[in-house]
Amino acid sequence: MMYPTDQLTRFTFVDQDVRGELVQLSTSYQRMLQGHDYPKPVQRLLGELMAATSLLTATLKFEGHIAIQLQGDGPVNFLAVNGSHHQQLRGIARVRSAIADDCNDLRTLMGHAHLIITLTPLQGERYQGMVSGNGDSIAEIIEGYFSQSEQLHTRVWLHADAEHAAGMLLQVMPAAGHDRSYFEHVELLTQTITAAELFSLGSEEILTWLYHDEQVEVYPPQSVSFHCGCSRERTLDALSTVPAAELREILASDGEIRMTCDYCRTEYTFTATDLQS
Ligand SMILES: [Zn+2]
Repeated sequence: MMYPTDQLTRFTFVDQDVRGELVQLSTSYQRMLQGHDYPKPVQRLLGELMAATSLLTATLKFEGHIAIQLQGDGPVNFLAVNGSHHQQLRGIARVRSAIADDCNDLRTLMGHAHLIITLTPLQGERYQGMVSGNGDSIAEIIEGYFSQSEQLHTRVWLHADAEHAAGMLLQVMPAAGHDRSYFEHVELLTQTITAAELFSLGSEEILTWLYHDEQVEVYPPQSVSFHCGCSRERTLDALSTVPAAELREILASDGEIRMTCDYCRTEYTFTATDLQS
């Protein structure tokens, strides 16, 4: 049986001031990797960050965008995923030196890392938060962000292989008279699920299996997709910042100017006529 993937499911524990989310990605994640020749460990990191971005996007209380960046001084010095309240995501990684295929240690891959989260509401002011990346995983770093900047007790689990990315989040509701022991109880239940199960089972099955003795209200799933947002017009706009003499030189030698989108790898070609208009 095929389960629907590329969706985010939110749920709450009835009368317990704890909420949860489950995200399962496949097509959108593979589309994000397409056209990039990322080493396997980098694919996994991007998959985890994509799952994390989807989970965090669903915690936003406004319409707008979220950007999550990890910057480091290791072989992988930049990872970023952007998402919108419509759960449209895109992401990119920058790799500056060779990486062993079996390296899964975040500190070896990224060195000293820090996490930057930028929230951009459609209406209102942009907010940026940063935490140093103290943690052995992206999940731990994000938990650190929530405890420092939002002071909301949060647990995050993230997994990715070459084809799937998945994650779960548990968080106390803001302003709740928080019962720590119930949170710990559902935390213990949640960590029994394996990556393989998150990659292969349907969301309903997962939630029923994990929380069969709890009272859980599950909301209709929201679909998650890859969406870049680049266009010929925007690329042409970006070209206007390049000195005209430089453009003329390229046109003289190549007859056209080619620009490839960093995120989706779409190639745009412009001639001298395009640039004049
Ligand atoms: Zn693009």
